[in-house]
Amino acid sequence: MSLVEALREAVGADHVLVDADVRRSFETDWTGRFTGSARAVVRPASTAEVAAVVRACGAHEVAVQVQGGNTGLVGGSVPGGGEVLLSLTRLNSLGDVDRAAAQVSAGAGVTLAALTAHARAASLDVGVDLAARDSATVGGLVATNAGGVRVLRYGSMREQVVGAEAVLADGSVVSRLGGLAKDNTGYDLVSLLCGSEGTLGVITALRLRLVPLLRARSVALLALPDVATVVAALPALRERLPDLSAAELLFADGLDLVRRHAALPAPFADEHSCFLLLECAARTDPTDELVEAVAAVDGVLDATVAGDAPGQRALWAYREKHTEAISALGVPVKLDVSVPVAALAELVEELPAAVASVAAAARVVLFGHVNEGNLHVNVLDAGPAGEQVTEAVLRLVAGLGGSISSEHGVGRSKVAWLGLSRSEAELAAMRAIKRALDPHGRLNPGVVLPVPVA
Ligand SMILES: Cc1cc2nc3c(=O)[nH]c(=O)nc-3n(C[C@H](O)[C@H](O)[C@H](O)COP(=O)(O)OP(=O)(O)OC[C@H]3O[C@@H](n4cnc5c(N)ncnc54)[C@H](O)[C@@H]3O)c2cc1C
Repeated sequence: MSLVEALREAVGADHVLVDADVRRSFETDWTGRFTGSARAVVRPASTAEVAAVVRACGAHEVAVQVQGGNTGLVGGSVPGGGEVLLSLTRLNSLGDVDRAAAQVSAGAGVTLAALTAHARAASLDVGVDLAARDSATVGGLVATNAGGVRVLRYGSMREQVVGAEAVLADGSVVSRLGGLAKDNTGYDLVSLLCGSEGTLGVITALRLRLVPLLRARSVALLALPDVATVVAALPALRERLPDLSAAELLFADGLDLVRRHAALPAPFADEHSCFLLLECAARTDPTDELVEAVAAVDGVLDATVAGDAPGQRALWAYREKHTEAISALGVPVKLDVSVPVAALAELVEELPAAVASVAAAARVVLFGHVNEGNLHVNVLDAGPAGEQVTEAVLRLVAGLGGSISSEHGVGRSKVAWLGLSRSEAELAAMRAIKRALDPHGRLNPGVVLPVPVA
């Protein structure tokens, strides 16, 4: 039996896409920067179908490229060339919310938006939120250990995972969806899958922790002179604001791009260079608490607080529209890094010169999750110097004791630089784990680790 026949037998002929025109939208990622061709796109609807696909690919010695919502920003969701692309969006079942345990089971292809709506209908909420919520899937979020805007309160995706079901490279299924809050029986395979970017197993279902639904919100936008002042304000803000859920850093050039792209008004009458967006969420209106805390911040040049939902959406738009506003101007070099918070001001100060040293005409647009020392570095007009820009920025970050991938993962785009953030001993351990679980290198070859995994 040919591979395509075996795939059709596994998932049904309607869900094996071989036509180049139909495959195309799966073969290029959200950024438009990463593209690769697949032999076929296969859309299974159950764990058993995923296992059958993985086994069929194994029997034909063909690699598998795993894909969720295809919103990843590091080239890890599209083929390197010649793989069978396994799209998991049909794994979209949602179990009843278990209110006693504050947990829910979800198929890997459920979008973050669908999961959130489901949880909220049961008066609970999801701890992770990010701007790609309408397309990003829970499988992808766990596979990348996604962060987003609420890490400061609830942690990254790893912290939301209670259990998982996954198909391993040999087609076997591991399943721990029982929802035990305490379970120390040996190696934590579920945790290992978090952040493994589809290289150790195909996640097919998840058991997720839910958090209280806090309907009362308040959002503030502060203008401050510089990053050092923002960082200096963080300890007092965290202390005064037990309901603090988000602290986002923006800059004037990014805000201007967003305003032009989305035709938004200026937030303040005066111009400022650096902004901090804060959100509090609570059971009762946190606006007074937020207003008082903002008034106590040293160095505030301007501030506005929105207690009503339309006003809050308007302030969040300045932050959330950054990614699409930047992408509307071209395909940027996108880097997502973090440094110790104490080094964030130095990173922001040194970045423009580091980029200019290799791409004089490039424009740098920054924003980030300030509490985690995170910075999204977007470089437009880098021309042919994309690799040099990446090298310059990542070396600067590593020199400041930072991580070359704060929350988006390594994907294909940062493989060459993994050694800047990981020691040789750590890399050897990662290679040993990959070889143990996927000895033939069938799952997402070239993602996280180079091929061959020596
Ligand atoms: C506008 C925008 C804003 C974003 N904001 C943030 C942010 O604030 N924080 C953040 O962390 N990320 C952010 N991202 C990045 C992205 O949304 C996340 O990385 C997300 O987790 C990817 O989910 P996905 O389903 O789209 O996965 P994909 O892009 O399809 O895949 C990402 C990686 O996970 C693997 N994978 C996907 N599904 C599975 C599975 N079921 N089993 C095993 N491996 C799998 C893929 O092979 C790939 O390596 C943003 C992206 C966009 C476009």
